[in-house]
Amino acid sequence: MKTIHLSEVRDRIKDLVQKANFELQDDVLAVITSMEKVEESPAALAVFEQMKQNADVAREERLGLCQDTGLAVFFVELGEDVELDKNDGIQSLKHAIEEGARLGYQEGYLRKSVVEDPIRRKNTGDNTPVFIHWELEPGETFKITFIAKGGGAENMSAIRMFAPAAGQEGIEDFVVETAERGGSNPCPPIIVGVGVGGNFEYSALLAKKALLRRPLGSHNSDPFYAEMEKRLLERINKLGIGPQGMGGRCTALAVHVESFPCHIASMPAAVNIQCHSHRVLSFEM
Ligand code: SF4
Repeated sequence: MKTIHLSEVRDRIKDLVQKANFELQDDVLAVITSMEKVEESPAALAVFEQMKQNADVAREERLGLCQDTGLAVFFVELGEDVELDKNDGIQSLKHAIEEGARLGYQEGYLRKSVVEDPIRRKNTGDNTPVFIHWELEPGETFKITFIAKGGGAENMSAIRMFAPAAGQEGIEDFVVETAERGGSNPCPPIIVGVGVGGNFEYSALLAKKALLRRPLGSHNSDPFYAEMEKRLLERINKLGIGPQGMGGRCTALAVHVESFPCHIASMPAAVNIQCHSHRVLSFEM
């Protein structure tokens, strides 16, 4: 049995949300650098240069990579053989995560982007509530992954319930249409998370997981889906939207597809769009 102290979780989360917002990770920078090599448009190349300068300034001066520091979304993989030590007045793991995020956003001067009610729009003032997805695992796993999800990219996401007859082609057209409809709104070059299968809500969750479960630009271990990812990336990059909508060959940095079994009568598909300011970070204890 592994024991995890909740005060330690709170402190790790506080650091995690700041580090993710201040430091663009190496896999993102590596894909940007490789895309620069295929880009020819001077405007697009200038945007890439600004993105790299922006990343340097954010890292050195501990400033948010973007003014929209996002909803704080967490994926928690919790082992059944983990005991949670409720020390320091923290009553639950949820409380530890929420408190860590609240402190991290406050101390890091990260923008508070949550409203209490979707229609009445009063800011909660501390970027809570956070959004937590729980996954119970066997053993002593304890892993938390954070993604800062900005509004511009999230707004361009989509879900559709297909009949199975739509086939692979129907899904691929839907992904490309979604990227095209987004245009410059999600701050391209984008990262496209695709969830295929499950049911209505699970496909959306798969699409979000597709953004954060493997290094950017890696391919699905199933060759069928790996090929789909390559084809979709090529089609999206032919749209010509380009970095920040300035035109060019790079509209997307990567397409990641995740799949799951589904009902015989259904074929759900969801597309979760992420911007180039891809702030994803994990820790394990
Ligand atoms: S879409 Fe991304 S880069 Fe654009 S404003 Fe939102 S968080 Fe920032």
